[in-house]
Amino acid sequence: MKITIRVEVTTDYGETATFEICKIDRPYRELEPAKVGLSLAEGKDVLHELQKIMVAMQAEEVCMLRRFCTRCHRFLDLKDRRIRKVDTVFGTVPFRSARIICCPCGTPSQWSSRIAR
Ligand SMILES: [Zn+2]
Repeated sequence: MKITIRVEVTTDYGETATFEICKIDRPYRELEPAKVGLSLAEGKDVLHELQKIMVAMQAEEVCMLRRFCTRCHRFLDLKDRRIRKVDTVFGTVPFRSARIICCPCGTPSQWSSRIAR
């Protein structure tokens, strides 16, 4: 049996993306207890990969929504993106954090998409 674990993410503004987390192979002749279901290591890997996808997508969604100026609704450019890390219950997860350029209308920029350092 071959098992593929995918996660589908739909943002609050309606974009959907699918990510493959892993593929697991379980030959039908191997039914010893260690080969039934997920191993602890596989389970941890699946959760860590899921966490990485969730954090990345949440950071992207926050960034996208904050790129619209609250006063003039202009779509703001990015200064750059940097790798940040957040500690979660499933391990430390790196993600790309964007810095947004302030709007020429003078509205103070909203806080960045940075979740944690
Ligand atoms: Zn503006």
